[in-house]
Formats: sequence, structure tokens, C-alpha cells
Amino acid sequence: MDNLPDIVSGLQQVFMSTAFMWDTEVLHKYGTSGPRYTSYPTANLFRGDFGVSAYLEDLEQLRQRITPVSLYLHIPFCQKACFYCGCNRTITRDRGKIAAYVDALLLEIEQAAAIHGHRRVRQLHWGGGTPSYLEPAEITQLMHAISSHFDMDGSSSRDYSIELDPRSIDESKLALLKGLGFNRLSMGIQDFDSQVQSAINRRQEFPMVERLTRAVRRFEFSSLNFDLIYGLPKQTEQGISDTLDKVLELSPDRIACYNYAHMPDRFPAQRAILASDLPEPSERIDIYASIGERLTSAGYEHIGMDHFARKDDELCKAAREGSLQRNFQGYSRALAEDLVGLGASSISQVGDFYVQNERDPEAYVSMMEQGSLPIIRGIRLSEEDKLRRYVIQTLICRLRLDKRAVNRAFSIDFNRYFSGQLQQLKKFEEDGLVELGDTQIRITEAGRLVLRNICMLFDQHLGESSAVRFSKTI
Ligand code: SF4
Repeated sequence: MDNLPDIVSGLQQVFMSTAFMWDTEVLHKYGTSGPRYTSYPTANLFRGDFGVSAYLEDLEQLRQRITPVSLYLHIPFCQKACFYCGCNRTITRDRGKIAAYVDALLLEIEQAAAIHGHRRVRQLHWGGGTPSYLEPAEITQLMHAISSHFDMDGSSSRDYSIELDPRSIDESKLALLKGLGFNRLSMGIQDFDSQVQSAINRRQEFPMVERLTRAVRRFEFSSLNFDLIYGLPKQTEQGISDTLDKVLELSPDRIACYNYAHMPDRFPAQRAILASDLPEPSERIDIYASIGERLTSAGYEHIGMDHFARKDDELCKAAREGSLQRNFQGYSRALAEDLVGLGASSISQVGDFYVQNERDPEAYVSMMEQGSLPIIRGIRLSEEDKLRRYVIQTLICRLRLDKRAVNRAFSIDFNRYFSGQLQQLKKFEEDGLVELGDTQIRITEAGRLVLRNICMLFDQHLGESSAVRFSKTI
């Protein structure tokens, strides 16, 4: 019976659907560093001298705009450091510091409402950090401020979501969130394997998550997302398979499955992770393939690069209808033209600009106390940027690009304009990652893993920044 594991693994190969039978060797050669394309141009190109006066003039015009708006609120505080973390967060138990930050946010909500307050808030997202680490009174205060300064959406089609750390939430906080109007929740799970949880310094037992999930269902939130991460230290195919058993038992509506980016030079907390504990690149691909296989077999649809959703979830409908967007919060439905970011480090996408707030929470608080605009850098999109953003966004969200639609929208001849890129894409086509038609470019199932590489071909600014800043694409 010594060869039983080999037999089991062989059977898994036989039963694995062809969609997830990738040639690891082929994919391996595409392993490079590159942006995640949550914006184009990417945030590392934002500059301090982006032209704040032109931006302010643009804002004046926006006072006339009556289309819906998205709001993003950044809460940068966490109680304990997870070793894999690459977010802009501050570890603190100092409630006074958090209270001062909430006061600053209240001021920025008022400041933003002076421009956008009349617009309907179709999307609202609280991210971090750990928004659920706030006290119930602080959460209530912030939500009341937003509701009294903006035109809130009471319809069931709104997207009002918040990121939860299961360790900082209980049933009474969930009830509060429901009462305040949040209808979508996202829980950071990462992996249920206890060895992995120890290696990343994030212990959260399954029974706790199970209890919370049951409460989420009882309170009838519209949608629950679980975040998983693959490529973590001590992670194995067997371990992730056990994690997926538990995930499927809880049956979240959406699952985001991110690729861990090990960049200890950029993110000091990651120095506590031993490189020797990380799965090899080929193992990571196998782990991702087994996740994809399990989730799609269980009825989830694969969306974009790294999301899965139940067929009746709004995200799936948006993917089918072509109304998906990708921004700093990952994939979501495209419900509003402008995204207004509030809080330290948050990024706004308004008019022709991306602008970013001061990253340091204390510096942000003093700027707000002095009545200044907290923006420190940004970029104005050129016409060329808009064209390339359209191409990149379409590929990354729809997995297909209609060249005729690009020709119509930007008055170009796609084949001539991007002849160099089409030439480079031939290599991807030979490897079964894209299909190049007369009128369309289509990404195959295996091509989802190299979507970032494909988008990089259309990124005019790629050479302007050091690749060291970016994570590995595979
Ligand atoms: S992963 Fe989330 S909870 Fe953990 S330190 Fe980072 S922001 Fe905080």
C-alpha cells in the first residue's frame, strides 16, 4: 500500500476537469514581476507634482455631475500583525489614536461631501487594516456622518460592504452593521490549516468562523465573501484541500483567492516568514489549480484572475453582462463613475485623475486638523492612458477584447496601433493562453494565470518604474 498516495494523486489528475489541467512548465516561464492592475497607470507612477490646481478645477466641474458615486473608507488599524501582510496598516491598541483618526475621517467626509454630497452613493466599501476593529460607537458615528452628508441608496441593488477580521467581530457587531445598512461582508480567512496559521501569525479556529457565518446568514446579509491566499508558508495541496472542505461547508457567496506576494524588502513583517517554508512556484500553480477545480466543481464560477462566485451572485451576473470593474478593492460591479477615497493612503479615481491621500495616519490626522486637503500625489490621465486603461480593464474583467469596440471608442485601427503587442501575443497563443481572432482577443482558462503578463504588453509606462516594486505574476 506504499504507493497509495501516488494512486490517489493519479486519480485526481484523471478526474480533474481539463479547464484546470495546466502545463506547469509552460506557465513557469511566464513567472516575472508585474503590476496587479488595480489601476492604470499604476499607483507607483503617481507624482507629487501632478497638478493639484488642475485637479481642483476639475473638482469644481464635478459639482455639476449627478451620476452615482462610490465611496471608499480606509481604516488602517489592526490589533496584531499578520506576517504575510502587505497592506498600509498600523498595529496599535491605543484607542486614543484610533479615536483621533475617526475624528479626522469625519472632517474628510464633510470636505468630500461639499463636492459630491448630492450624488447617490451606489457603492460604499470600508477596507483596511481592520474596519471591524473600530468600536461600535465609532462605526455608528462614521456611518451616520456619511448618511447625513451624502444621498444614500436604500435599494437592495446597492453594494455597501465592509472587510471583517473574524477575530474582531461578534454577533452584536454583525447586527449593528446590518442595522446601519451594510449588505455585503468580506471575511479574511486565508487558510484553516493550523500550521499555516501559526506560520503567518493569524490563529482563527474554524468553529469561530462557522459561528459567525451562521449569524451572517441569520441576519440575511445579501452576500458573504471569503478571502483565501495561496502560496503561504507551510501550505500544501492536502492542507488547502482540507481548508476547501471547510470553506465549502460554509458556502460563502464569493471567494477571492489571492496569490501571496513575498517581498520582505518592502514589507518588514514578512521577514518573519522563512523563504524555505514557501511552496515552490510549480506547487503554487498546482495549489491554485486544485482550488479552481474544487470551487468550479462545487458550482462556483471563475471570475477574472482570482475570484469565484456562486452563479446567482451579483458578481457573476456582472461578469456575464460585461459590467465588472477592477479597482483597488479587487473586482466589483461597476455601479458608479467616480470613486472617492477617504482616509490615510486611500486613492480616488475622479474625472481624469487618480489622487492619493497622505499614507501615514498621524500625518493624515494633522492635515485634517489644519483644514488642508490630505492629497499628496496623483496623476492626470492622458488620452493614450485612457485607451490603454480601457484595453487592460477589458481584458482583466471580461477576458476578451473586441477590437472593433476599441476602434469605435478611440478612433484607431487596433491591428495597426497595437501590431507590436499582437506579435508578442503570438507566443501566448502558441502556449494555449490566448486565442487571437480577426475581431477578438480571448483569454483561455490557463491564460487567467498570466493575465497580468498579457496586460503588461499594453502598459506603456512599464519601463518607467523598477520591477522590484511589483510582486511575482505567478
Ligand atoms: S492582513 Fe489584515 S488584519 Fe492582518 S495585519 Fe494586514 S491588514 Fe491587519
